[in-house]
Amino acid sequence: MKSYRKELWFNTTSRRAFINITPEVKACLAESGIQEGLALVNAMHITASVFINDDESGLHHDMDVWLDRLAPEKPYNQYWHNTCEDNADAHLKRSIMGREVVVAVTEGHLDFGPWEQIFYGEFDGKRRKRVLVKIIGE
Ligand code: ZN
Repeated sequence: MKSYRKELWFNTTSRRAFINITPEVKACLAESGIQEGLALVNAMHITASVFINDDESGLHHDMDVWLDRLAPEKPYNQYWHNTCEDNADAHLKRSIMGREVVVAVTEGHLDFGPWEQIFYGEFDGKRRKRVLVKIIGE
């Protein structure tokens, strides 16, 4: 069995952002040489997510509005966590959107359903953060 590991780094200019990282994950898969197996992609921070959905800007806007309605960023003092930080909303948003995705690798390709793309969801950005890509198989 082969095993491949790589960290992808991000530093968004805004506090919240959705970034399509499918090209980077495909590049990892090509570099790994793995034809059959599984690809795990996970955020390495508890205020960011990796998720799969459609690459459609209207949907991304809707998701951002929906998440901020569920866990509003402000006022900061509404959260107990924010006595020493200001990112309680980011922890909550990440909890909803999840930590990781696992994608089947078939014949050297990410075995997606229709329109599936992998996204990095940043909820407390403007600093360097990373995503782990781990691919195992043959
Ligand atoms: Zn925090």
